[in-house]
Amino acid sequence: KASKAVTEISGYEINELLGKNPRIFKSGYHSSEFYKNLWDTISSGKPFRTTFTNKRKDDSLFYLDSVIVPVIVQGKIERYLDIARDITQQIELSQKIEKVSNLYKMLYSINQMILNTESEESLINKLPKLIVDNFGFKLAFVVKKDKGENLNIDTHCAKDDNYKQIIDFLKSNKEIVANIKFTPFFKSIKNGRVYLENNILQNNKLIPFHEKVKMHNINSCFSMPIIKNGKVIATVVGISDRIGFFDKNIYRLIEQVKMDISSYLDRLEAEQWYDILTNAMNSGFDFVVITDENFRIVYINDNTAQFSGYSKDELIGQHHSILSSKKHTKEFAKNFYNSLLSGRTFTGVITYKAKDSRLVKALMNITPYKSKGKKSYYIAIGRDLSGSFELQKTLEENLSKDSLTGLETRAAFVADLERFIKRGKYGKLLGAIAVLNPVRFSSINHAYGFEAGNELLAQIAKRLKTYFREYDVIAKLESDKFGIIIKDLKREEDIYTILYRLIDYLSKPYTADNKTISLSFNAGISIYPKDARDPKTLMYKAEIALLDAKHKEESLGFYKEDLREKAQKRMNLRNFMADALKNNEFVLYYQPYFNAKTHKIEGAEALLRWKKDGKPIPPMEFIPYLEETGMISAVEDWIVREVSSKQKQWEEKGIKPVPISINISPTSFSRKDFVENFLSNIKATDANPKLINIEIIERLFIENIENSKYILNAIKRNGFRISIDDFGTGYSSLSYLTSLPIDYIKIDISFVRKMMKDSNTKAIVKTIISLSKDINMKTIAEGVETKEQLELLKTLGCDYIQGYLFSKPLPEDEFEKILNDRQ
Ligand code: C2E
Ligand code: CA
Ligand code: CA
Repeated sequence: KASKAVTEISGYEINELLGKNPRIFKSGYHSSEFYKNLWDTISSGKPFRTTFTNKRKDDSLFYLDSVIVPVIVQGKIERYLDIARDITQQIELSQKIEKVSNLYKMLYSINQMILNTESEESLINKLPKLIVDNFGFKLAFVVKKDKGENLNIDTHCAKDDNYKQIIDFLKSNKEIVANIKFTPFFKSIKNGRVYLENNILQNNKLIPFHEKVKMHNINSCFSMPIIKNGKVIATVVGISDRIGFFDKNIYRLIEQVKMDISSYLDRLEAEQWYDILTNAMNSGFDFVVITDENFRIVYINDNTAQFSGYSKDELIGQHHSILSSKKHTKEFAKNFYNSLLSGRTFTGVITYKAKDSRLVKALMNITPYKSKGKKSYYIAIGRDLSGSFELQKTLEENLSKDSLTGLETRAAFVADLERFIKRGKYGKLLGAIAVLNPVRFSSINHAYGFEAGNELLAQIAKRLKTYFREYDVIAKLESDKFGIIIKDLKREEDIYTILYRLIDYLSKPYTADNKTISLSFNAGISIYPKDARDPKTLMYKAEIALLDAKHKEESLGFYKEDLREKAQKRMNLRNFMADALKNNEFVLYYQPYFNAKTHKIEGAEALLRWKKDGKPIPPMEFIPYLEETGMISAVEDWIVREVSSKQKQWEEKGIKPVPISINISPTSFSRKDFVENFLSNIKATDANPKLINIEIIERLFIENIENSKYILNAIKRNGFRISIDDFGTGYSSLSYLTSLPIDYIKIDISFVRKMMKDSNTKAIVKTIISLSKDINMKTIAEGVETKEQLELLKTLGCDYIQGYLFSKPLPEDEFEKILNDRQ
């Protein structure tokens, strides 16, 4: 019998129930012990009270608070009376509450666990136990995909031995795990989604498992994929003995947990990488500095803090110029910003300034970087060079060449200029800086294209390299601007000739792109040390001179106009000089020198003049060009002949002769046939060798003492006299002069000028004079202009005096008169 309520609750018709075993309601939620206990109790005649979990006709669950009472008739149990109250609603409600609180419990414990987990591995290992211990699952395990995409049972947790057997089964039947594509774990690994199965036995696709499922009392399960970097790496399976364990809420919860774990794993990996990268940055690089697009520092590695002496806090947020040494040129800075702002990597050696003002040199590689968020950064990575001079040198060499032309870069040029100037400080160096620019090169680029433009620049560079000496410096300063350091000039004005000829050479036609292209050039010039003694000003002045030249439409611009005028004049002279000898425009002036004590004339020096258009031009203005063109030898041949024939004429006129000194230029003196040539010139007039004295500048001896000795001995053997000119301006010491056949030492005019004011100079003059006496040489003081100078020299024991005080260089007739008057 059953009350109407029974049919309403269970969903069965009354005739479907009558005569049936109550097992029809069996849900599978009660264990066999439970039934045994129930049966034992009621069959012994006692009532049994319990909460039944029963199954409706439609398989959903209903719950009954029941008392089963045995009805005993005449000592025998006749029937059982089940008095039940439907508590489904209450149970479901409390289950819901339990589920909801479980949701939070689960979220909480998973988050808790995540916080306490350092690795992916330990997180995955902990999950099964967490699921079994906290959420009433009987078994939980992890299925992992290995490298070959095979599925394997990984770690697990089972409530008891019964469930442990399932694991053993799965492990020994790998093909089931791997091949049955309808298992929740297979699907969730494949699709990355959470799969739920509320009643395994009703899912026909899982029939291969049904026997096992029944045996071990499994009814529902879930599978939650574990996703890292968007890829499924495993799935966690939870198995319950309850039918219909899952609902929408649980589904959402598991989805939530899945996402939490996934984002945790991603973060964990990012953090690991961050750790690794931070470590790499600190051990692998000396400098890592990241700035934002406004060059404000957003990151530095530990080493940068150490090298710079600033703490991270002091640097972060600051503009990168806080580290600037201000040691770089404007050009360098321009290049730096140009590369970065146009998105290119900048590579270069940068000098930074540390907090304590110490300079730190580093090879830097700075790369613009646009993050996904569209924010721009500059990532600077570099190596400290201060410890490694060698490395620094090779790097600088590599970085110091322009890739197109192989010429030096501006930075290298400035460095070379610095070195040149440093050297200049110790000696008497004279140099020039030229900045050279093809005229309107941009229009050439425009007309013929950049390829041809580059080809032209390379050819210009090649011509520059051919034209200059090895030790001069040639650089490409800017796209079409060249810089040259012309070292060791003999005279300032020489630069004019050098560059004039260069521009001539550079202006010869070029071939590029199968076309003949003609270029003209401007150059700006500054002179060291006259215009400046530091690289910056020298370059600045050369640039100014270049602008000036462009403005005036001249090929050469000088920073100081006087040089241009001088040079221009010289150029004009050059053009006329070729004919000067032929046209008899050279004349000799004679400057006598006198006995310091008696003031009697002792001899004279022949000094060359060029009488052009009736005006005598001083020798310093044209002799350099005579030397340069080699014309000097012809002129000096003439001088030797002229002097010796004059001696002859004076002799014939009955004038008592004095020795005449002839200046021999280094060019003539270095000629192989000098002696031979000299002797043959004298022989032509048959002059008395004793009346001919040759003057050779001191510098010549040092350059080649053996050869000088040989030549001088030959001259001396032939009875001529020898003077050392400009003594004191070279580096010679008197001691080696003893090995040379020298008669006179001419104390340079600069000593005579300085000796009155400067006691050191006075001491030098005194020494020269007394040492000369020791080695039997006579001293002649040059450029004596005052009585005081004369008096001092006399006191010091100088033998002869030459200078405006007694006589200027005189034209031949005036000199002859003096010679005459003396008798
Ligand atoms: P130097 O051989 O040292 O000649 C002396 C120079 O000093 C001459 O200049 C002379 O005029 C100048 N002088 C003489 N006394 C005084 C004085 O009291 N005060 C001043 N301020 N100057 C004085 P000059 O004639 O202009 O010659 C300059 C240089 O040109 C010579 O220097 C010499 O190096 C060169 N030179 C002149 N003639 C010849 C020549 O025939 N052959 C060669 N190779 N060089 C020559
Ligand atoms: Ca002289
Ligand atoms: Ca002299």
